[in-house]
Amino acid sequence: MTVNLLDFDLPRLTAFFAEIGEKPFRAKQVMRWMHHSGESDFARMSDLAKSLREKLSASAVVEPPRLIKEQLSGDGTRKWLLDVGAGNGIETVFIPEDERGTLCISSQVGCALECSFCSTARQGFNRNLSVAEIIGQLWWANKALGRDPLALSPSSLPGGERDEGSLRESCSRGERIISNVVLMGMGEPLANFDNVVTALNIMLDDHAYGLSRRRVTVSTSGLVPAMDRLRDTCPVALAVSLHAPNDALRDVLVPVNRKYPLAELMAACRRYIEKAPRDFITFEYVMLDGVNDSVSHARELIELVRDVPCKFNLIPFNPFPLSGYQRSRPEAVRRFRDELMQAGLVATTRKTRGDDIDAACGQLAGQVQDKTKRTQYKIVEAAA
Ligand code: SAH
Repeated sequence: MTVNLLDFDLPRLTAFFAEIGEKPFRAKQVMRWMHHSGESDFARMSDLAKSLREKLSASAVVEPPRLIKEQLSGDGTRKWLLDVGAGNGIETVFIPEDERGTLCISSQVGCALECSFCSTARQGFNRNLSVAEIIGQLWWANKALGRDPLALSPSSLPGGERDEGSLRESCSRGERIISNVVLMGMGEPLANFDNVVTALNIMLDDHAYGLSRRRVTVSTSGLVPAMDRLRDTCPVALAVSLHAPNDALRDVLVPVNRKYPLAELMAACRRYIEKAPRDFITFEYVMLDGVNDSVSHARELIELVRDVPCKFNLIPFNPFPLSGYQRSRPEAVRRFRDELMQAGLVATTRKTRGDDIDAACGQLAGQVQDKTKRTQYKIVEAAA
């Protein structure tokens, strides 16, 4: 049977090499070829013996998802659509900023949670992504950005002020193009726990992407038992999609709240911090006009998070057809943020990036062959 080596973290790759009668250091070599050099052809892995290359070609492949489309936004954001078979596609977004480059990756084809304001939810759910499909997004982005270093920062845009010299310099100094990874694309990462953790191990491994735990963020809608498991198996930075200050409202916006209500969620956040690489949880809070954006909501929120070291990331709602919601007015966002800050909380407003190519938060849609049959009635419901 042919295996896809992109599915393996180092321990599994080492076990695979043992099975085919090879030494453990071969696993590290091949890991570097695949992830440092973006190589998928064993024949070009020049420091492996020819006999080993042949053995690998006969029993294994290095197969990332197929690239369907690449789009570049006016603000430098890039989006890739990748084919994961059977009519399904997933999206990955790269967001360049002055100090860092963040890759936003997907963990499932669609999403089974039904957050009412999210366009991925509207698309329904097909399946979990494999490890190769999750890490393959980083593999592709690394390759695409490596070949085009001038597309890295907003200042390198057409018409923008280009500073080719300094960009080339920072690339040749070996600075990372992708410095941060966030699992904030399509899907609920903690609902695909095992594959996500194996992919995280590959991101953190020096023989692969060598990212620091502090710079890899898993975002969850609040699957409490899986938050505990993540803390115990692979603690990385954690973001929690909060979006409401009380159970009544959160039950509507993030229905998984009915299973894991806020008191349990806050307790899980406190437990997570004990082992987290950062000493705070990031709370994401989508700002929906007239729904969750009043000063009294902010006050309720301050009470809710009293015992949880945290930072707030306010996300102005990104609209999509028939969503039924509107983005909060800028004054409302400002007032909300001021209220949190006056209580001593750190709160930033997420800048909308890449919305001209539908790459902003909650706009990732890919192509989902829905298995839940949810899509149709949702659209009818929204139109009613
Ligand atoms: N399922 C995970 C990962 C998705 S992260 C989670 O819920 O955390 C994507 C973030 O964008 C989440 O905080 C999500 O709630 C938010 N989001 C979804 N739809 C949005 C929209 N239309 N506008 C702004 N933010 C949205």
